[in-house]
Amino acid sequence: MSARLLLIGPPGAGKGTQAQRLSEALGVPAISTGDIFRMHLRNETELGLKAKAFMDAGDNVPDSLTNDLVRDRLSQPDAAAGFLLDGYPRTTDQVRALDEFLAEHGTSMDAVVELVAEPDVVVERLKKRALDQGRADDDEAVVRHRLDVYAQQTAPLIGVYAERGLLAKVDGIGEIAEVTERIESALAARGILFTA
Ligand code: AMP
Repeated sequence: MSARLLLIGPPGAGKGTQAQRLSEALGVPAISTGDIFRMHLRNETELGLKAKAFMDAGDNVPDSLTNDLVRDRLSQPDAAAGFLLDGYPRTTDQVRALDEFLAEHGTSMDAVVELVAEPDVVVERLKKRALDQGRADDDEAVVRHRLDVYAQQTAPLIGVYAERGLLAKVDGIGEIAEVTERIESALAARGILFTA
């Protein structure tokens, strides 16, 4: 079956970890715009060079660059039957671009999972990730800024998807497997089935 899903939540809520696990269980690719941008940074591509200053500062990369990148990625064959987006859309302009892309292909989103986590908790988690993974944007001041950017630009999207009847709120605090189970049952309640 197809599943077109999106995980939304503040930085440090565990979206990347859960996206990997759900992607395996559902057999659809997890698509993280942050991972794609980081790959471009490592490879020093033209896009990477354009995105770098925004990412280092914890700001969103401009919508035009991000929307083009997602359009290309969603056009690849492995995303035809479904996908799990992590970290996109992040702005109302990105919602519009995604809606447009899906409408062109005669499809739409099936569900949006909000991973709920309090700012204090995510700051602590990201401090730990800074030590483990050395991500420059996990520096505490940058993390605080990323949380502000999330609150201003991304949190309003939750209401947009709630109005469409697509939103499932899931508590993101707990053991990794426990959170995965919560998400799976929230999706199952919406008729999205796990075969694995
Ligand atoms: P993430 O791994 O999702 O926390 O993303 C890391 C960084 O990549 C963000 O702070 C942004 O600079 C950039 N980024 C990732 N996804 C997007 C997006 N959808 N729109 C704009 N910038 C993004």
